[in-house]
Amino acid sequence: MIRFVNVNKWFKQLHVLKNVSLEIAQGEVVVVCGPSGSGKSTLIRTVNQLEPISDGEIWVIDQNVADHRTDINALRADVGFVFQHFNLYPHLSVLDNITLAPIKVRKQSREAAEQKAVQLLERVGLAHKKDAFPSQLSGGQQQRVAIARGLAMEPKIMLFDEPTSALDPEMIGEVLQVMKDLALSGITMMVVTHEMGFAREVAHRVVFLDHGEVLEQATPAEFFSAPKTDRAKQFLKQIL
Ligand code: ADP
Ligand code: MG
Repeated sequence: MIRFVNVNKWFKQLHVLKNVSLEIAQGEVVVVCGPSGSGKSTLIRTVNQLEPISDGEIWVIDQNVADHRTDINALRADVGFVFQHFNLYPHLSVLDNITLAPIKVRKQSREAAEQKAVQLLERVGLAHKKDAFPSQLSGGQQQRVAIARGLAMEPKIMLFDEPTSALDPEMIGEVLQVMKDLALSGITMMVVTHEMGFAREVAHRVVFLDHGEVLEQATPAEFFSAPKTDRAKQFLKQIL
């Protein structure tokens, strides 16, 4: 579903992604971790060209993201993205936040989009909040709405960039639970997170990034019990 081939990225002189090669298969859940500033956000944002790459190739569902002939808007419709900050539209109700893109981009009827939105809200446990505005919700609830909004486009891939790191501790669990349920549904997921419990439980693979380099790729069992590099050992010591 996603294939990085020798991807490099520079911000001016700063080499932030160094020869990254990585493949994510259909239905796979891959957790990307690594120290702050190691390039995790940059990496995940290249998948739908929120960050253009400097060289190499990224293939997403058989399309070369960097090829100017690729329809990036169509590709983005297949790739849901949930950020650290929920980025809901503050002036729209929960329901309207979720139905906006399906109506505008997927050309669904309002009725069909709303029906689907209510189903998704049930799935994330927030059907009773459909008429609320984002400011009336807790951070955890807003993030669950953001996930429902991503799913409304029926994406083939979901990307998450530290979806729980801006949340108060008591809300982290509810968001992780929604993500766990999602992982079991078979969708392809790439998740930047420091929640190692999530990684242990649901990731098929953990990728450890350091200074823009993929230093390790392993199953969670291997990565947590026997990290190969000193950098990974040190990182795990700090966060576990
Ligand atoms: P992480 O998500 O792992 O914390 P980032 O991908 O955000 O790391 O950042 C990787 C490196 O790139 C950092 O050194 C950061 O300061 C730098 N960086 C990120 N975005 C930009 C930008 N838009 N312009 C210049 N440098 C950036
Ligand atoms: Mg980041």
